[in-house]
Amino acid sequence: MGQLKPYVAGKGFGEISRKYGVAMEDIIKLGSNENPYGPSPRVKEAIAAISPERYPEPEELLAGLSRYTGFPEDMIVIGAGMDGVMDTLTRLFLEKGDCTFIPTPTFSYYEILTITAGATPIFSQRSPDFALSEDLPARAKMAFLCSPNNPTGNVIRQEEVCRILESTDAILFLDEAYVEFAEKSLIKLVERYDNLIVGRTLSKAFGLAGMRLGYALAPPWIAEQYRRAAPPFYGITCASAAAGSAALSDLPFMRRSVEKIVRERQRLQKEVSALPSEANFLYLQTEQPSSQFVERFLEKGIIIRDCRSFWGAGEHHVRVTVGTPSENDRFLLAFREICG
Ligand code: PMP
Repeated sequence: MGQLKPYVAGKGFGEISRKYGVAMEDIIKLGSNENPYGPSPRVKEAIAAISPERYPEPEELLAGLSRYTGFPEDMIVIGAGMDGVMDTLTRLFLEKGDCTFIPTPTFSYYEILTITAGATPIFSQRSPDFALSEDLPARAKMAFLCSPNNPTGNVIRQEEVCRILESTDAILFLDEAYVEFAEKSLIKLVERYDNLIVGRTLSKAFGLAGMRLGYALAPPWIAEQYRRAAPPFYGITCASAAAGSAALSDLPFMRRSVEKIVRERQRLQKEVSALPSEANFLYLQTEQPSSQFVERFLEKGIIIRDCRSFWGAGEHHVRVTVGTPSENDRFLLAFREICG
């Protein structure tokens, strides 16, 4: 595991408060792509009613996911976050000596999963507009495509995904963690292709990052193998199952938060002249090194993400999560001071 670099998460409230002497309540966290509006109020009630002495029962959650996605339950798999889902899938499909295809910059956990499975990542730098610049190498066993892509915020076109799927037997994992903030999902393609899995999560639009609940839509042959290889209860908990079912029962709440975030994303994007994004974050190029840029914000209690830990992002990019209007105002004030 010599090549393995640790997963770098966005910084937390406690760490910044201790290091910069900013009171916890004065910190704004725009570094981890969380949803500032949290989940539907139904979630707290549902968690209060769980029986923690019992093992979780996923039936209600699966029924809720089936209603939300329009897919039958035999094509839905669940896990402890999409991270947990991907962990089971890579244990299932990757062996020592295999290769995976990872267009960069992108979410770094794909690389960690590849390496822990004994496989080798083949990185491919995206073109300047963040589109894919190379075809899938013939020796790749799995490919990871993120759309909208973390950290760049762009989406991949349906024709491109179809072209890739038709050119290979490799398994394509399409990560739609941020899709509710985008115009369109490619989920329907799972019905057409036997080698496509679409990953989803309740961490973002549904505001349940702390509950660790993810799922994927997969062809029945993959879903069946998944259920054999996944941890007992698929890694979910009574609390996460109850929270997920409650959140899925209140789609209007989720849609209202998404609308507010998309509106604020458009405002922020114009104000800071960022490239368009279809996710709940913006990708910004910085004149000064990103590490210094981020530090100036941290001193003011504003957590944004230095993108140096993303392969291929270089030393001059940061990612800013769209917050509430008042959080965004504070970010913009600091941005104007820092960028002068
Ligand atoms: N995919 C992408 C692109 C992400 O940004 C994240 C969260 N950082 C995940 C997957 C993992 O999501 P979850 O919280 O469901 O594990």
